[in-house]
Amino acid sequence: MEKTLILIKPDGVARSLTGKIIHRFEQRGLNVVALKLLTVSKAQAAAHYDEHKNQPFFENLVGFITSGPLVAMVIKGENAVKVSRAMIGSANPAEAQPGTIRGDFATALQYNVIHGSDSAASAEREIANLFKPHELF
Ligand code: ATP
Ligand code: MG
Repeated sequence: MEKTLILIKPDGVARSLTGKIIHRFEQRGLNVVALKLLTVSKAQAAAHYDEHKNQPFFENLVGFITSGPLVAMVIKGENAVKVSRAMIGSANPAEAQPGTIRGDFATALQYNVIHGSDSAASAEREIANLFKPHELF
């Protein structure tokens, strides 16, 4: 079964959306196999967003994602990457469909509540950046 990394970003945690978001994945049959609340380091944030390192918004992105506690979790299920990306919706809240997590909760491109890995390969890399093997069930 496929695994993917989900982050409930600092805005989502601050707005107490954690329970609602986890509930949606569980309802959909995706199981939580690792879960923690943490503030990520600048190095972890930079590694996580390595693909965006040359973008003008990179500094802001790393600043935001390290600004407070986030919830990191690994969820597992059939086509977990594709299913969770569909549930999450477009990064830009103006384009996110109602019924998606961002379409229902995101307030801005930066404050878009949640991250989900975009491929199985990204998921493996992102999970290894934030979790030790013994933290996964
Ligand atoms: P995420 O990786 O957060 O799940 P995504 O894969 O849908 O989102 P990416 O294109 O990987 O979107 O961008 C990563 C994050 O960087 C976005 O979620 C958004 O917060 C931020 N971002 C993307 N594009 C811009 C931009 N043009 N200006 C500011 N922030 C941006
Ligand atoms: Mg992305």
